[in-house]
Amino acid sequence: MESPPQDDTCSICLGSFTLPCQANCSHWFCGECILNVWHHGSVFQQCKCPICRCFINLLKPTDASVQEGKDTKASQVLKSIKKYNRSFGGEPSNLIQKLQDLPFFIRRLATELMDPRRPLPSVFRAHITFAVSKSENSGKMMHNILN
Ligand SMILES: [Zn+2]
Ligand SMILES: [Zn+2]
Repeated sequence: MESPPQDDTCSICLGSFTLPCQANCSHWFCGECILNVWHHGSVFQQCKCPICRCFINLLKPTDASVQEGKDTKASQVLKSIKKYNRSFGGEPSNLIQKLQDLPFFIRRLATELMDPRRPLPSVFRAHITFAVSKSENSGKMMHNILN
């Protein structure tokens, strides 16, 4: 299937599709809508399809979307979709590619960390706990040495 069903609407914004993308589970979303779903979750994890709850590892924009992508806003969305696919999809990516995508992830991570409503991602919490327990231990060690 190359384009979303005629009478269908995006189940996220409930409107007609803008830059329609098909997920690997065969559901259709606006490019921007599905990226927003991902933005609500963790940067390190694929987002789940809001309809069938399966993990999305591929978002395929239609040819028409790619055409539309010539205007700036749409091309931003398409670029993000490509990066999403590279990070979570089965597409092979090399280290250079990953490094090139890094600023994208850092920006995304920064918004995640700065959001006060969101708890810290568990990876960071683990790091912090580790750092704290390490400094406690070295404190004890210093104490033992000094006494
Ligand atoms: Zn939508
Ligand atoms: Zn689905």
